[in-house]
Amino acid sequence: MPENQLKEMLVFYNKKQNVNEGVGYSPSAKKPKLVVHAWKQSGYPVSIKKTRPLSLEEISVAHDRNYVKGILNGKIKNGFGNKSLNVAKSLQWTTGSFYCAAAHAYLHKTNTFSPTSGFHHAGYNYAKGFCTFSGLTIAAILLSRQHKAQRIGILDLDSHEGDGTTNTIYKTNSDDFISHYSLGEYDIQKHNNKEWLDDLPNLIKTNFSDCDIIFYQAGVDCHEDDPEVHSGHFTTEQIYLRDKLVYSTCIELKIPVVTNLAGGYQKPFQKIIDLHNLTAKAFQESQ
Ligand SMILES: [Zn+2]
Repeated sequence: MPENQLKEMLVFYNKKQNVNEGVGYSPSAKKPKLVVHAWKQSGYPVSIKKTRPLSLEEISVAHDRNYVKGILNGKIKNGFGNKSLNVAKSLQWTTGSFYCAAAHAYLHKTNTFSPTSGFHHAGYNYAKGFCTFSGLTIAAILLSRQHKAQRIGILDLDSHEGDGTTNTIYKTNSDDFISHYSLGEYDIQKHNNKEWLDDLPNLIKTNFSDCDIIFYQAGVDCHEDDPEVHSGHFTTEQIYLRDKLVYSTCIELKIPVVTNLAGGYQKPFQKIIDLHNLTAKAFQESQ
C-alpha cells in the first residue's frame, strides 16, 4: 500500500503509564511502550498525542472515593496484588490515556488508540484480575458529564467477562447511557466462532447503532493459543478478521472508535505484539 494511503494512528501515550518493576504474571504494565514501538517499527504513521493523569475526583466518578484514595495512597492492594505507589501513579496515567483518547475521538469524530489494559475486571470498590480502575466506565461517565455525549458503546472483545465494567455501570446508574457487550459472557468456541464472526457486523449494528462513540477492547487473549483463553478461540487470521469487521462496520455507521489493548498472555511476548500489529493492519485496511 503506498504510504500516502496509510491512515494516521492517533496514539494517546505517555511513558508514565508504564511500570518497569515486576508486577507478576500480567505483562500489561510494560505493554504500552512495546506495542507503540512495534506499531512505529511496522511503518504505520503513528502520531503520539498528549495525555494527562486523571485526578482522584475524576477516577471516583466510577468508583468508591475511599477505594480510589486507598489505592492511590498505597493502603489498598491494586489489581496486581501489591500496594506499590509506582503502580498507583501509573494507573492515573492509563486511565488518563484512555480518557484523552476518548475525548479526542468524540470531539473530532475520528478514531484513536490508547495502548492500555487492565480495566474490565475492576469493580466499584475492588480490584481484580490485574485490573484496578475501570478506565472504560470512567471515560464514559466523564464524556457524558463533561462533553454531553448521549450514548457510549463498550465493545469488549477480550476473551474474559467484563464483570467489573458491568459492576461499575450498575453501581453508578450509568446503564441508561452506556451499551456494553462482552465476548467473555458468551461461550464462543472452535465449533461456533466462525458463525459468531459472520454475525459480528450485525451484532455491532444491533447493540451500538445509536452510540456517539465506541470503546473497543481489542484483547488478544481470545486467540486459540493463549494460555488464558476463555471465549473466542480464534485463529490468527480470525483475530485479524475480527478487527477488520469492527473498523469497517464502525466506518459504515460513522461512529468513531477508541481502541485499547486489553488482555493477551502468550509467551514469548512477541506473539502478543504480533497480534496487536494485526489490529493496526486491520485498521489500515478497513474502509
Ligand atoms: Zn482477558
